[in-house]
Amino acid sequence: MSRPLAAIPCAPLRRDVDTDVVVVGAGISGAMVAEALGEAGLKVVIMDRRGPLLGSTPASTALLQYEIDTPLSELAERIGLDRAERIWRRSKLALDALRERADRLAISADLAIRDTLYLEGNGLDADGLAREAEARRRAGFEVSLLTGAEVGERYGLDRRAAILGHGNLAADPRRLAAGFLRAALDRGARLHAPTEVVKVEPGEGTVSAITGEGPVVTARTLVFATGYELPHGVPRKGHRIVSTYCLATRPQLRAVPKALPFIWEASEPYLYLRSDPSGRIICGGEDEDFVDEERRDALLAEKVEVIRAKLSKLMPAIDTEADYAWCGSFGASRTGTPSIGSVPNLAGCYAVLGYGGNGITFSMMASQILRGLITGRGDPDSALFSFRRAF
Ligand SMILES: Cc1cc2nc3c(=O)[nH]c(=O)nc-3n(C[C@H](O)[C@H](O)[C@H](O)COP(=O)(O)OP(=O)(O)OC[C@H]3O[C@@H](n4cnc5c(N)ncnc54)[C@H](O)[C@@H]3O)c2cc1C
Repeated sequence: MSRPLAAIPCAPLRRDVDTDVVVVGAGISGAMVAEALGEAGLKVVIMDRRGPLLGSTPASTALLQYEIDTPLSELAERIGLDRAERIWRRSKLALDALRERADRLAISADLAIRDTLYLEGNGLDADGLAREAEARRRAGFEVSLLTGAEVGERYGLDRRAAILGHGNLAADPRRLAAGFLRAALDRGARLHAPTEVVKVEPGEGTVSAITGEGPVVTARTLVFATGYELPHGVPRKGHRIVSTYCLATRPQLRAVPKALPFIWEASEPYLYLRSDPSGRIICGGEDEDFVDEERRDALLAEKVEVIRAKLSKLMPAIDTEADYAWCGSFGASRTGTPSIGSVPNLAGCYAVLGYGGNGITFSMMASQILRGLITGRGDPDSALFSFRRAF
């Protein structure tokens, strides 16, 4: 589906190196963090055990949303209104920053601003959606609550209510990540792959990343941007790994409205979808709480049939046959919020665990927060996402 990418220059690490920051992982999180730290004037070395953009990033359906998985009204009940509103607002700021920064760096990744239609489901019924719309308005978000008649007239969907939100972003995730990685390299970062970091040893004001082949990178700071693969020493409490399933239909520009909003259900299990520039519907869901790749892949055909059936029911005019189907894994947390910050008991080490359906929005948030923490300028929201937080 994605156009071919020019190769990103990289080579395995063959000798010891000293640097300011070592970033472990060359997915979209590592790319954004490396680019931001490079802009702040730091010397950066990136390492990936597979190669650039070979983790979860290319599997992403790339609905880049500020609306996080846990509704604001529900998050407020769980962690308090003030913190919930701050998290939602920061998510919006991060998404806006992502779009503005990609624009400034002239990254070409089919970026397109999209509305979001959040449909009534078994998680939030029409009354629940009304409360959620109020909570979002209170926090400053521009939303409308649509009645069933409005949902039917405007979008041809049969649901009793929906929240219409604005300002989200569709993207080609590989090209987006490649753009940030290239920008980081242009700022002087070096990318070594395939090179696996097998051990991390904090020292006096430095941290050493020991690689599988033997060479060592010594840095003042290390950032784990390893996606759902949790490195040894990073706290796992509250973290789990989820398997998820997706399909892309054939292109059908006539049947699919050009600026179709992202459609997303307030249900468990949920269905979500977007269109791409060729008129394909990219649709996913049916998450399972396990990580075993063989078991995950064995379920693909069955899960794709379930997704197709739900899509056909929601949008009967669409040809739902899957041109592509795939599955992947991502990290999840109880609240759908990420962990970003310094790793307790590993001096000089930071980690980005971007979570769930908003992983890429959280990658940008991580690049902002870690830039503040690593350069010593701080970040007013860092405590909301730290590994020591209470939720
Ligand atoms: C099917 C699917 C659909 C998704 N849909 C969306 C969506 O619509 N919107 C959204 O925002 N997010 C979505 N996500 C989540 C999003 O894709 C992820 O949050 C994001 O891609 C994670 O990027 P990352 O750079 O943190 O991790 P990855 O892309 O997984 O990169 C981590 C890298 O670290 C490397 N690594 C790991 N351990 C080591 C080591 N010891 N040494 C060296 N390298 C190492 C790996 O090789 C890998 O390349 C989806 C995910 C999946 C799987």
